[in-house]
Amino acid sequence: MEKNNFQKQNTYVSEEEKTLNWEEIQKSFKNTFGTEIYNSWLQKISLIKEYNDFLILGVPTRFFRDWIVSRYLDKILEEVKNFKLSLNRIEFKIIEENNQPSEVLKLNEISKITEIKDSIVNYNRLNPNLSFANFIQGKSNDIALSYSKKVCEHLSRYNPLYVCGGVGLGKTHLLNAIGLELQNENNVMFISAERFMYHFIKSIKKNDMLNFKDFFRKSSVFIIDDIQFISGKESLQEEFFHTFNSLMDKGSQIIISADRVPMKLDRVQDRLKSRLSGGLVVDIDLPDVDLKSKIIKKKILEIESQFKESINLNEEVINFIASESKTNIRELIGVLNRVIAFSRVNNKILNISDCKKILKDAFSQTKVITVDKIQNVVSNFFNIALSEMLSQRRSRPLARPRQVAMYLAKKMTTRSLPEIGRRFANRDHTTVIHAVKTITRLSEQDDEMKKNINQIKSLLLEQ
Ligand code: ADP
Ligand code: MG
Repeated sequence: MEKNNFQKQNTYVSEEEKTLNWEEIQKSFKNTFGTEIYNSWLQKISLIKEYNDFLILGVPTRFFRDWIVSRYLDKILEEVKNFKLSLNRIEFKIIEENNQPSEVLKLNEISKITEIKDSIVNYNRLNPNLSFANFIQGKSNDIALSYSKKVCEHLSRYNPLYVCGGVGLGKTHLLNAIGLELQNENNVMFISAERFMYHFIKSIKKNDMLNFKDFFRKSSVFIIDDIQFISGKESLQEEFFHTFNSLMDKGSQIIISADRVPMKLDRVQDRLKSRLSGGLVVDIDLPDVDLKSKIIKKKILEIESQFKESINLNEEVINFIASESKTNIRELIGVLNRVIAFSRVNNKILNISDCKKILKDAFSQTKVITVDKIQNVVSNFFNIALSEMLSQRRSRPLARPRQVAMYLAKKMTTRSLPEIGRRFANRDHTTVIHAVKTITRLSEQDDEMKKNINQIKSLLLEQ
């Protein structure tokens, strides 16, 4: 019985949903991308279907789609995530207007075609806002920040620099800042692993691998974001391994980000993992309240200067938002935007109880944490099979993750101890108590354990 239940919940089905207000999102596109880009491109995107984890967006032509995908996709996804955290993918559908073939482009688009020399070049844009100057230092990112700066001063001394940490903690921001710092005097390539794959596949299809290799190997600073994406993709790993080696051979600086340390990368060749950890690995932890408050204040100043308006959030409200937002900085900024939007629309200075209400709405659509989910995330995190984690075997590599999962089940769900015991292959509630005690003690004494618990929590809250 239990087992069947498991399997059912394990198969993740995307359900159609309607929670997004597309007009509101369009407004945020306009703010983020600026009027010019908005008017020529983003305004024409429509929402066709919304699922719990992805969106289908409508665009007028194929050309239009390629343009958007090659230049704005990551940012669009980041933006819509502010409205719905569970989204992780966007698909496009071409809606042909008046039955015109999609190749027939409008005049204003034709003028833009000449700008596309190479979609890779177009994508390799750094965001001027994600600079060191705009990156706030805190306890959780101190080391990552200082080595990111050092890399800029001494190219190739720390090679590769590998920045890791959970989602929304500032990895892309730091990588982008390094790119900005170095771009004037170096040939900087900045790309996400996902884009790297997109070009890789495109080049294979077009039988154009030579160009691909050439293009990526000529950079003197190669920055690749979210390398965990290569998990399980053998041929991509192969290609990346060669790119990596040839860049290292010619002394290029490589900077990499990922959601975990190299050795924990799942389904990645060992030789690649060892290359990735061959330089310096730095990580970013969850922010504390102090850093979160500083970021909120900085964001408020940015918005005030950008929109020439004053935003009235008092210290108490700022602290409240900072301590209430528990997952990551991206979410924190999303919540802040909601609060500001609310105060704009209602033209009022917000107090704590308004904020409570807004935050409640903001958080309510996400995060129903179940024992099943905890078990899945924990077993994935520690790279062991779920069945093994639940088995009766007592070896340390299985017992610890099992205890972590029990501990989190106690802390993050409302299940009772006996119920939790039952969900772990019918164990006794005293076993659960023992697990909770052990992990509580370890997470106080052992930094590694503390960090693991935090990362798993943020994975759970993010999903
Ligand atoms: P990641 O790549 O780790 O998922 P991002 O770099 O995209 O996270 O960061 C998420 C958001 O939080 C971005 O808007 C980024 O500018 C902001 N952010 C993260 N850390 C900081 C920081 N220390 N100071 C200012 N903004 C930050
Ligand atoms: Mg990122």
